[in-house]
Amino acid sequence: MSYREHFEQIVKDQIARIERMKEAPKASDFSAMEKIIIGTIDGDGIGPIIMDACRKILEKLLKEEIASGRIELRRIEGLTIENRQAKGETVPADVLSAIRECDLLLKGPTTTPAKGGEGPNLESANVTLRRELDLFANVRPVSIPEKNIEWIFYRENTEGEYALGSRGVDIGEDMSIDFKVTTDIGTERLARVAFEYAKNNGNKNVSIVTKANIMKKTDGRFLDICMKVAEDYPDIKVDDWYVDIMAANLINDLFAANFHVVILPNLYGDIITDEAAQIQGGVGTAGSANIGNRYSMFEAIHGSAPRMVADGIAEYANPASLCRAAVMMLRHAAMTEKAEVLEAALDKAAAELDMPGDGTGNTATDFTQFVLGQID
Ligand code: NAD
Repeated sequence: MSYREHFEQIVKDQIARIERMKEAPKASDFSAMEKIIIGTIDGDGIGPIIMDACRKILEKLLKEEIASGRIELRRIEGLTIENRQAKGETVPADVLSAIRECDLLLKGPTTTPAKGGEGPNLESANVTLRRELDLFANVRPVSIPEKNIEWIFYRENTEGEYALGSRGVDIGEDMSIDFKVTTDIGTERLARVAFEYAKNNGNKNVSIVTKANIMKKTDGRFLDICMKVAEDYPDIKVDDWYVDIMAANLINDLFAANFHVVILPNLYGDIITDEAAQIQGGVGTAGSANIGNRYSMFEAIHGSAPRMVADGIAEYANPASLCRAAVMMLRHAAMTEKAEVLEAALDKAAAELDMPGDGTGNTATDFTQFVLGQID
C-alpha cells in the first residue's frame, strides 16, 4: 500500500468511527432500571483473592437489593491468562458475550504477557474491553485529605495518539510518522460526563489540560469542544492548562488543592493520572473506572502482582483498591448511600489495618472480616 492509500484508509476508518459513535446508545439511567446486572471478573494472580473479598462485602452491603432481584452479582468466568492464551484471543468470544449481558463490570487485574515471555503475546484485555464496549472515559479519583486534595481525572480513552497507535508508518529508512486523532463527538461525550459529575457534586471547578499551543489542530479542537460544553454549565468555574505546567502544579502545594475535576486527552491523561496516583501513595489506594454509555467497568489501579503469588504471600494482597472501585461503581449506578457506607468502612480499614503486602501484617481475610463488621 502506498503512503497515500494508507493515509486515505486511516481517514476513511476514522470517519466510519464517527458514524458509529453517532449511533451509540444514550447513557444508562440507573435510577430508572428495574434490574442491574453486575458482572464480576476475577482476573489473574491476586485477582481471585481480592475479588472474593469484594464480593463478600458487596453481598452483605446489597443484601436487600440482591434478595429483591434488583441487583444480580454475576460471576464471569474465563478471563484468565491461561484461557486467553489457550484460545489465542485477548478476550475470548464467549467471555465477551457473557460480559455484554451485564450492565456494570467489576474487574480484577488481568496479566498482559510481556514481549518475549511465554505463550502467545496477547494484547491487554483492558485495551480490547475498552474498544469492544466503547468505554470512552477513564476516571480516576485521587484523595489526599491532609493536603485538602480531592481530584478526579477524566481521561479520554479511545482517541488521541492511541486510536491509531499501531498504524503509524515508517517512511523510507530514516523516518517514522504516527497519527493523533481528535473528534468533536469523542471529545464532547467525555467533557459531558466530566461536567455532569462536577455539577452533581457541588459545581466543582473544571480544568482542561492540553498542549494546544503546539498541537494546534487536535488539542486545539479538544479545548474548543470542552469550552463549548462548559457554556451549558454556567455555574462551574473553568480554566485551561498546558500539560507540562499541570505536571508541575500537581506537586506544587500552592496550587494543588485548587484543582478538582480535570479533563485530559488520552496520552496526557495516561501520564498525569499515574503521577497523581503516586502523589496519593501508590497502588492499593485508589480505584479506577472506564465509563461508556451502555457499559462501565470498574477496577483496581494495580496489576495482578504475580510475584506475590510466586512468593506464596497472595493472601496478603490488599483488596482496598478493588473495593474503592466498587464505591465508584455504586456512585455511578446512583446508589450513593451504599457507596458512602462502604467508603466509610474502607477509610476505617485503611486507618486500622496494616497491609504492606509483603507477607506481614493483615491478610485479605482479615480485611474482609473487618469491613463486614463495619456494615450492617
Ligand atoms: P502490579 O501492580 O501487579 O505490582 C506492582 C507492585 O505492587 C508489586 O510489588 C505488587 O506486589 C504490589 N501490589 C499490587 N497490588 C497489590 C495489592 N492489592 N496488595 C498489595 N500489594 C500489591 O504491577 P506489575 O507487576 O507491573 O504488573 C503485573 C501484571 O499485571 C502485568 O501482567 C500487567 O500487565 C498487569 N496489569 C494489569 C492491570 C489491569 O488489569 N488493569 C493494570 C496494571 C498491570
